Amino acid sequence: MISHHAFAGNPIISEKRANLSSADLNEAESAGALHVLPLLEGKPLISSVLLPEGGQKWRLAWQNFGACHNALIGSQQAVNAFLAEQQAQEEGENHVSVDFSHGILSHDRLVHLGEKDGVTFCALDVSPYPIAPGSADKIALDTKWMQGLSKAWELPFSDARVGFVDLRLLMMSTDCLDKPTLEELSIAGCARAMLDWHTQSRFCGRCGNSTVSKEAGRRRQCSNEICKKKLYPRLDPVVIMLVIDKEKDLVVLGRQSRFAPRMWSCLAGFIEPGESLEEAVRRETREEVGIEVGEIVYHSSQPWPVGPSSMSCQLMVGFFAFATTFDIRVDKKELEEAKWHNREDVKRALSSIEYKNQQQTSSLKVHQACAGEERRRSSSIEARDAVELPPMFVPGPYAIAHHLISSWVANGLETLRSRV
Ligand SMILES: [Zn+2]
Repeated sequence: MISHHAFAGNPIISEKRANLSSADLNEAESAGALHVLPLLEGKPLISSVLLPEGGQKWRLAWQNFGACHNALIGSQQAVNAFLAEQQAQEEGENHVSVDFSHGILSHDRLVHLGEKDGVTFCALDVSPYPIAPGSADKIALDTKWMQGLSKAWELPFSDARVGFVDLRLLMMSTDCLDKPTLEELSIAGCARAMLDWHTQSRFCGRCGNSTVSKEAGRRRQCSNEICKKKLYPRLDPVVIMLVIDKEKDLVVLGRQSRFAPRMWSCLAGFIEPGESLEEAVRRETREEVGIEVGEIVYHSSQPWPVGPSSMSCQLMVGFFAFATTFDIRVDKKELEEAKWHNREDVKRALSSIEYKNQQQTSSLKVHQACAGEERRRSSSIEARDAVELPPMFVPGPYAIAHHLISSWVANGLETLRSRV
């Protein structure tokens, strides 16, 4: 039994809310007690090593401030060389260059993540937003720009296998019984959520002026002296529920059109303003499948920083919802399909070996991303996955849906209570 969900259990979340001044940072840096995690477009810098017993293991590639500064200068040179070359071929374009030093020195991109054993942990956004005045649109530069940045980051760490890796891939590569790696994942999730919120909160919603980072990135504030609106990190709560027919021992699982083929999951939906969690469970179930819900039992909750890009962090709140009506009427705008499933079929879906395969395949992809090998071997791995597929499967152990479903399968109706 896992002790908590993926992305929960962050060991460095701190009570400390005080402002982290430049002097504090310098002091921590000179004492070797400042660890900085660079993230590029929400992807944390990680290292991956091959294990003697087989397989790979990844860890967050914490840096000191000096290494980050050197890497940023390296990035700046690499990107400017690329831009100069491109502009030499395109006559009549204005000269463009970038300067990252401003961003890092202002600390606007540095966010305090927490403390542990006398060490201060921060996340640093090295993504290329605000580009220098007069520069071309970021989108136009996109792919090569990012490649230039990623490459430049390899330079100071050429002896280590480091790379910026997608958080969802890291999540899928993590064995849910591997506590040390789960802790790394929770820190990465928190870092990404915070930096993403900063990126999306650069302007005041009340007066439109720019905002500045305050309290070491714990909040932002409008720069307009009259307005001074305070902005706090945002959460988007979602209810997720396993709808149960107590009498017949069945559960409702649904499919969204964006799901992988054969994947089924619990129903879920956003909580609306002015609504309680229970009301959201009843409304969403009624809207999506036309079923009325009576008793509702809380199971557990999970932070989810890998949801839609417009949301820096969702909070999934999981319930068992006992149906009082049983005819399914699917809202086709929300779901492709929804059905009652019996315990045996759901049990079979859960016992799928696909989870282990998926985790190992993802783990290899993580390692390859760090080693710069991209996806050379992935086609053969996916071909192996394609053998003996069961008729359905449910999301892997990294998702709360998996645990709602497996709790029901494992425990029967009498002991349906919080398991994590
Ligand atoms: Zn304002």
